[in-house]
Amino acid sequence: MAGEPQADCLFCKIVSGEVPATVVRETDTTVAFRDINPQAPTHVLVIPKAHYPDAASLAAADPRATADVLREAGSVAAEEKLDETGYRVVFNTGSGAGQTVFHAHAHVLGGRGLNWPPG
Ligand code: 5GP
Ligand code: ZN
Repeated sequence: MAGEPQADCLFCKIVSGEVPATVVRETDTTVAFRDINPQAPTHVLVIPKAHYPDAASLAAADPRATADVLREAGSVAAEEKLDETGYRVVFNTGSGAGQTVFHAHAHVLGGRGLNWPPG
C-alpha cells in the first residue's frame, strides 16, 4: 500500500531504528538526521516516516506530511543558525539528478557559500 514501509529501503530502516542515524529532530510524521557524507558544514536530511519514492509522489499522496517536511527543514535551519546566513533545501528527483535513495528526502545544506545555479 502507498506509504507503507519497504523492506529494501534504507530510509525506512532509519525510521524503524534498524539502521542507526544521528537524529537531530523527530515528529509524528518526520525524522531529520545528519547525512553520512556531508557536502556542507550542515547537511541534514529530513524525511517523511511514510515511504514515497520522491518528493512529488509524497506531495500528491500526503500534503500534510509534505508540509511537515518543509516546516522541519526550516526548524533544522534555525537550530543550526542557518536562517540568518541562508541555506538550501534540495529534493534530488531521479537518478539523472543524483537521487540515490528512493524514499523522499529534503537535503538541508548550509554553513558555507552556496553557488547558484547549483551543478
Ligand atoms: P540523494 O543522493 O538520494 O539525493 O541523497 C541520499 C543521501 O543519503 C546522500 O547524501 C547520502 O550521503 C545519504 N546517505 C546514504 N546512506 C546513508 C546512511 O546510511 N546514513 C545516512 N545518515 N545518510 C546516508
Ligand atoms: Zn522508505
